[in-house]
Amino acid sequence: MNIAVVGAQWGDEGKGKIVDLLAQRFSIVARYQGGHNAGHTVHVGGRKFILRLIPSGILHAGVTCVIGNGVVVDLKALFEEVDELATAGIAVNGRLLVSDRAHVILPYHRDLDRLSEASLGARMIGTTSRGIGPAYEDKAGRRGLRVCDLADGAALEELVRDGVARRNRLVQDEALRWEDVLSQARELGARLRPWVSDVSVALTKAMADGRSILFEGAQGTMLDLDHGTYPYVTSSNATVGGACTGLGVGPRSVHAVLGIAKAYTTRVGEGPFPSELLGAEGEALRAKGHEFGAVTGRPRRCGWFDAVQVRHAVRVNGLDAVVITKMDVLDGLAAVPICVGYRVGDEVCDEFPADLRRLQRCTPVLESMPGWPAATAGAKDFRGLPPEARAYVERLEELIGVPVLLISTGAGRDDTIVRNEPLAAAWFGSALSLA
Ligand code: GDP
Repeated sequence: MNIAVVGAQWGDEGKGKIVDLLAQRFSIVARYQGGHNAGHTVHVGGRKFILRLIPSGILHAGVTCVIGNGVVVDLKALFEEVDELATAGIAVNGRLLVSDRAHVILPYHRDLDRLSEASLGARMIGTTSRGIGPAYEDKAGRRGLRVCDLADGAALEELVRDGVARRNRLVQDEALRWEDVLSQARELGARLRPWVSDVSVALTKAMADGRSILFEGAQGTMLDLDHGTYPYVTSSNATVGGACTGLGVGPRSVHAVLGIAKAYTTRVGEGPFPSELLGAEGEALRAKGHEFGAVTGRPRRCGWFDAVQVRHAVRVNGLDAVVITKMDVLDGLAAVPICVGYRVGDEVCDEFPADLRRLQRCTPVLESMPGWPAATAGAKDFRGLPPEARAYVERLEELIGVPVLLISTGAGRDDTIVRNEPLAAAWFGSALSLA
């Protein structure tokens, strides 16, 4: 059975931990979009790994990891990650495939990213300035450089010269030398060659051989280029549709879709956020949940769980179930409000609006649930949770209309509870072992 794991909020939902937990059940973990802005954090055996580009499945010896055509690849960042894994004793050789159709991020994309953010002034998006947006712009503008071009001397030189010339026309500081960019791309391209593959062919063959795939989404639904809070979004499709276009597999290859959502909401960067807490309550969630970006260190904005927003994620991804993470962060609160609708003037709307001006006028309709004084961390099963925490999860299920598969109560692999045993058994063949 192949499963897609997608972020159901604004990213940083804890997908890294859940993919790491589930990866051992699959033979392949495949990433389909985004770049090295992802920053999944995984804690294994007392070590902390931040994986930006390589799927977190790499931490399991038997798992093959795939970087699809929908991903934009910064070769320097990729090899930094490969080398970091190597020093931790994790060999990537023979276990990593990179699509020959993936687009490459070059140094001039980073310069263009900074320029583009600066030119937006007050309307800035709050990107990570890693060149991801400009690389996708080049892709859509049909002038991008793909992994397969790295092996063709003449094509590579022409694309690099054009790209550097465009950058030097736009960026006023010191000119970039195309010769330097070219020699770095040649060198890193040669190092990449053994891993380059037609990923669509490889995955189709793997599925025919009965191997299972976990499709790993980066960022989250609300950062999706089409279904997120445009223009405060990323430049790719983080929703499940991206798995098909970003890997070259058909929709029937995705047998189930699992959304990951925190027990509350966070977002990083600019853009509307209806259930945001601007005062001390938001500060408290940020401090307790360590809500600072894994890649950039930026403080994340915090708010209550937003059922209107998660229902939007359920619909646009066809989610079959969700995982609720970071339940422990809510431990000890007297009451835990949930955003159940948006009030705009005299109206209450329960669908997430497209129009950001309307969204900015929305105030949350809150329903307050009793908090739980006891800790959720350490509970071994659903019955072991405080009754108020169980009621909170049950209410979330009612509001979003899909079951909760797992509940995460801490950063470690062991801090996980199976909420829905029959579903876990149906998806994973036997009762899901979380050890
Ligand atoms: P991702 O990009 O969706 O993988 O999310 P991040 O890795 O950026 O953020 C998740 C952070 O929360 C990481 O530091 C995780 O180790 C941590 N984390 C994941 N699940 C839990 C949980 O249930 N409780 C707590 N306290 N931390 C968690």
